[in-house]
Amino acid sequence: MSTLDYFAGIDIGASNIKYGIVNSNGEIIFRDRKPARVDKGAIPLLHLITNIAENLLLRAAEDDITVPWLGVGSPGTVDNLNGSIKGNSPNIPNWVGTGIGEHLRNYLNMPVYVDNDANAMALAELRFGAAKRFNSAVCITLGTGIGSGIIVNKQLWRGSDFSAGEIGHIVIDYNGKKCRCGNIGCLEAYCSSQAILDRTRDKCRNGMTEILSEALDGDLSNLSVKKMFAAAKKGDEIALAVVEETGTILGAGLSGVVNLLNPEALIFGGGIIDGGAGLIEIIGAEIRRRCFAAASENLRILKAELGNDAGFIGAGLLGEYKTKTGG
Ligand SMILES: [Zn+2]
Repeated sequence: MSTLDYFAGIDIGASNIKYGIVNSNGEIIFRDRKPARVDKGAIPLLHLITNIAENLLLRAAEDDITVPWLGVGSPGTVDNLNGSIKGNSPNIPNWVGTGIGEHLRNYLNMPVYVDNDANAMALAELRFGAAKRFNSAVCITLGTGIGSGIIVNKQLWRGSDFSAGEIGHIVIDYNGKKCRCGNIGCLEAYCSSQAILDRTRDKCRNGMTEILSEALDGDLSNLSVKKMFAAAKKGDEIALAVVEETGTILGAGLSGVVNLLNPEALIFGGGIIDGGAGLIEIIGAEIRRRCFAAASENLRILKAELGNDAGFIGAGLLGEYKTKTGG
């Protein structure tokens, strides 16, 4: 019987930092989360991550577990060679330029690997989850933002300057809505969780439907993505229309990704896809309606298997991936 390896990972999200230890069979040994409070800015966040890293390593030591490195997944464009934030991180003030890798390596005196959070999620799905049996796949996260990790020949495609996979910023309407990235008409401006809430509120301008009203105690300020999807599942007219529209827009945008890459699978994770209500089926139907048949006839459209754990698991795997592939 071969001995197991253990991996420690931290996943920095817009609302929570998730972290834990997983073994080389994909079994989670320990996991926890802390509020990220990204509004406080880069330095307090870096202190929080350092504190979490120390606690995680202490926890491993207490359980007699040896972790050979620490992995960190972060929003934004991440230079994975030196572990710094290179750009595009609108949710965390002053995060661009932060040398997380260098700081943690110096502080912890051990190897530290940092990558984009969507790349980490893709790596976890590739090793233990829904992407395991494919050579090529695009792992898409739908939530506060829309991102992806692209797998080609069982390896991450990070792009020439670490910026590949930003499918939330594919322009679907060149005259369209303003996006947080500064551009106009991006997919994310229509299908992020905030955009979905805005669209639902807009449809309620002339009054709420009965099921939605009941779910929100008659107060639109109680609206959340979760409640909207719950109302859709009960057959609420407005909520169903929002789900249908969101799926159609996502399918239209993602058909470009399928035509471009012709991957074996699209794998969806994140809070919005967890809402259910047929969203993934609507996305799939729209992709098949719009794509070249050759690109979509064998395409598999699946849900991610590792859920909220994918980010920290994938971060933990970064060192193993580097050892195996050099990347
Ligand atoms: Zn954008």
